[in-house]
Amino acid sequence: MAAIYCVPLDGFPQEILRQVVPELSSIYSTPIRLLPEMQTAEKAYEPVRRQHSSTAILQLLKSMLPDGEDRILGVTTADLFIPILTFVFGEAQLNGPAAVVSGQRLQNEFYGLKANAAVYHERLLKECVHELGHTYGLRHCLSAGCVMQKSTYVENIDLKTAEFCSACGGFLQEHHRSSNMLREV
Ligand SMILES: [Zn+2]
Ligand SMILES: [Zn+2]
Repeated sequence: MAAIYCVPLDGFPQEILRQVVPELSSIYSTPIRLLPEMQTAEKAYEPVRRQHSSTAILQLLKSMLPDGEDRILGVTTADLFIPILTFVFGEAQLNGPAAVVSGQRLQNEFYGLKANAAVYHERLLKECVHELGHTYGLRHCLSAGCVMQKSTYVENIDLKTAEFCSACGGFLQEHHRSSNMLREV
């Protein structure tokens, strides 16, 4: 059976990642395997921006996976960017195996607010579900509350749920069904 590999990057606390694993596993009906921590700075750090390139991290993650139905999700403490944006909460390969999420801008402390572990957990879960959704081929969704809604600011993340709307949920089920069929042939 296909699996989702979760890997803490650049010092992201294993125990925080471990907290989202059961929910991710049940949302995607897929077993999750935690991998040991990985460092990405050498390949992904851009000194001029003082941020990590999310696209470079995706390449690194992808190179760790054999071809197949498996997915790999890295979660980092580093601030991520793509060239056209000042930052991203995460990035994923559409219909590809790799996704990455940054915890940095999901924490209240980043905005000068009091730390809140429950809020952080919710945001992290939503972003992990969202980026993994892209790896299964889901695009951004306009349905209110759907986890596949695009988030530009952290407030957008708080306004959506960790769940899929019926259209996105149906798409995912169809994906799982067809990949199961492929394996059986
Ligand atoms: Zn997205
Ligand atoms: Zn949706």
